[in-house]
Amino acid sequence: MSNNLGLTVKPVTTTPREEEARVAKWIDSPEYREKNFARQALVINPAHTCQPLGAELAAHGFEGTLPFVHGSQGCASYYRSTLNRHFREPAPAVSDSMTEDGAVFGGQNNLHEGLENALALYKPKMMAIFTSCMPEIIGDDLTAFLKNARAKGHVPKDFPLPFANTPSFNGSHVTGYDAMVLAILQTLTEGKKVEGRCTGKLNLLPGFDANTGDYREYKRILEAFDIPYTILADISESFDSPNDGTYRLYPGGTPLAEAADSINGKATISVGPYATSKTFAFVKESYAGKHVSLPLPMGVAKTDAFLLKLAELFEKPVPDVLKAERGRAIDAMTDAQQYMHGKKFAVYGDPDQLLGYVSFLLEMGATPWHVVCSKGSKKLDKELQALLESSPYGKGAQVWMNRDLWHLRSLLMTDPVDALIGDTHGKFAARDAKIPLFRFGFPIFDRVNKHRYPLVGYQGVINMVTEICNKLIDLRDETCEDRFFEMMR
Ligand code: SF4
Repeated sequence: MSNNLGLTVKPVTTTPREEEARVAKWIDSPEYREKNFARQALVINPAHTCQPLGAELAAHGFEGTLPFVHGSQGCASYYRSTLNRHFREPAPAVSDSMTEDGAVFGGQNNLHEGLENALALYKPKMMAIFTSCMPEIIGDDLTAFLKNARAKGHVPKDFPLPFANTPSFNGSHVTGYDAMVLAILQTLTEGKKVEGRCTGKLNLLPGFDANTGDYREYKRILEAFDIPYTILADISESFDSPNDGTYRLYPGGTPLAEAADSINGKATISVGPYATSKTFAFVKESYAGKHVSLPLPMGVAKTDAFLLKLAELFEKPVPDVLKAERGRAIDAMTDAQQYMHGKKFAVYGDPDQLLGYVSFLLEMGATPWHVVCSKGSKKLDKELQALLESSPYGKGAQVWMNRDLWHLRSLLMTDPVDALIGDTHGKFAARDAKIPLFRFGFPIFDRVNKHRYPLVGYQGVINMVTEICNKLIDLRDETCEDRFFEMMR
């Protein structure tokens, strides 16, 4: 084969078209599904990202905090660009850019130089340090490195430098998030507990949640209750600040003094039990007040549980405005139930969110037919199974623990469903299966403003019902024969 310059071009592939067609058909077959599910030592398109990315999200949730990556620059770019594409906002972070010499001799020099430069250039109030794979593999000792950094005067002795080990051959963005929040709270609250003093506030641990609308929704609910609160960590402004012509390096975030005083709170609620397990264990051990772990308030039942717990802890009735909102959510579900009732869905995502999607679908009379988690646990498996068994609509549904999106594709092609719920990475499987993908979760790269629409609370129920049902109606309008094209739907 020659190009227009007369040069010979080597074909990229010599696979005949017929062979391509045969394989394309074969990967949709039950025979291929069996081979795909027998796969052991390979993950293809997992529905999770690496630990440091979660750590970076957590760091952005605190006032004046500069996320600091001890490790490779390329890794830092990956976390930043993923956050940046999801929120369409800057994700300012630094890296000490370890290269070959760091990998051989250790990254202490990089860290020390990086800390000094970052402090001088970006003037943060706190630097939250976390690791990429490389320093974890070579065994860099951050405790010793940071002690030396202070001793040598690279950073002031009292400058807050929480750090988390976030090796990505373990866990996911969810565990990295947990590790960073824990390290920040341990650092900020050290020596701050005052016996007998109570701030009267609620501490809310939202877990890894990349929906800024959810944070605003929590605030709205707590303000309706008139409950003073501290969100640990609050990314709502960091990734959704107003575009008013002024660039702010550190917009929003939980004030450091408030986070430090959270140890004297009246109560702490975690609404992301899987994304805050270590942080919550620390809170139970060290924090004053009551400690409660609840599921993410997604769907009516889980939102009810959240509001009733707030009412109980703060001895206040559920405000009328929220009761009316519940009624509106029920009305929205009733008006729309015929479009979702009996439909089969496949869902994938993070543990806390998955429990929320399943709960919501069952409430709508839909079946979460395939429930896929690419980084789960036996505990999550049991909890999902119990949830499915609690409803007649869960009958026949299957939980696929520690399976990836290539497994999901096989499931969709051999045991079809009507729709898929998950992040943008599922769009290829949805296209192959010719079903709609409802983009909830993280990351969402290919739609705008999704992170501004809450999925928690009664408003979240209304948003999910509206998005799903209107799309299903759109599809009917777009694909039906002319004689069935109706004004009313
Ligand atoms: S998995 Fe490891 S090497 Fe890859 S981006 Fe994450 S930290 Fe870097």
